[in-house]
Amino acid sequence: MSVKRLLASAFLLLLAACSNPLMGAQPTEVIPFDALEQPQTDSEALITPSPQPFQFSLPTPGAEPITNWRPPLYPVPWAVGPYDHFYFTRPIAADQKNWPTADYRYGGIFFGRNIVHTGVDIPSPEGTPIMAAGPGTVVWAGWGLFRETPDDRTDPYGLAVAIRHDFGFNDQQLFTVYAHMSEMNVIVGQHVETGEVIGFVGSTGATTGPHVHFEVRFPSNSFFYTYNPELWIAPPQGWGVLAGRIMNEKGEPLQQMELLVAPENASRTFTARTYGKKGAINSDPYYQENFVLGDLPAGIYKVTFKYDDIRMQTWVEIFPGQVTYFTYKHEEGFTVAPPPAPELDFVPENLPATPTSVP
Ligand SMILES: [Zn+2]
Repeated sequence: MSVKRLLASAFLLLLAACSNPLMGAQPTEVIPFDALEQPQTDSEALITPSPQPFQFSLPTPGAEPITNWRPPLYPVPWAVGPYDHFYFTRPIAADQKNWPTADYRYGGIFFGRNIVHTGVDIPSPEGTPIMAAGPGTVVWAGWGLFRETPDDRTDPYGLAVAIRHDFGFNDQQLFTVYAHMSEMNVIVGQHVETGEVIGFVGSTGATTGPHVHFEVRFPSNSFFYTYNPELWIAPPQGWGVLAGRIMNEKGEPLQQMELLVAPENASRTFTARTYGKKGAINSDPYYQENFVLGDLPAGIYKVTFKYDDIRMQTWVEIFPGQVTYFTYKHEEGFTVAPPPAPELDFVPENLPATPTSVP
């Protein structure tokens, strides 16, 4: 982001914050989402994979795409800002619906209270080719990935492939996972290039409809080290991503808070939800976000959400090919202060070809 744009964006946000009549409001005490949930023990904080983590039906599509047409994706790796890392393309071809289900994004909670979504789902017809999101070596191909038990036919991921990528992130190995395949096209040890067909969409494992469940993992190929794929897959050209952190007055991230994101011309409204309970999900090392809304056409958006029945509001600008970031802390309001300056090289690095994390 250019300095000029950054300043313009910051100014816009500050202006919006200053002129927001709700900013001075002091709502009564709020009951954190946590308190509404069942008591959490320490052992639950580090949940172990349960036998049925993904018993969900694909949600009925809401107000999602009016049209299936989107601009072509940015070439990967794509990183305009120092914090951004769009290193991957999407597992479904760009001439098809290749964006995540809006109602069940990363960190979303569907059926189980303690089960959060560790990836994104892209619904596609059975048999649709699934492509490698980046170059790398296949380190898993078959049943059993979720519990890391080869040939376990009860595994909720069904037929799944995991790839250890040729490049890493901050000296850490990067992996992507593709689950619920009907058929695989690769074997363990095989090297694949970006866009190479590694399998086909199916509904194996715990799912009620054909889709690909896609994960980004680092530094190890484990269920507990997933990150939000919407911060890793390149957006369509001219489009961007909104990320943020919504906190209570203590600075603790608020769970499952619904945000409405409406473009200036209000042609439609996007909905985002802050992440559910931590455990198997993680915030980006730099953004420390608790929600991400990908695939937003560049432009000005109004963000609103209710905090203890009082509507909070700010304006953000989405820039092409970039992440726009803001935070909200209760009683302090909105800020666009960037995360701490990165200290490490953000450029993908070539890693040794020796797999060290093969499950
Ligand atoms: Zn999924």
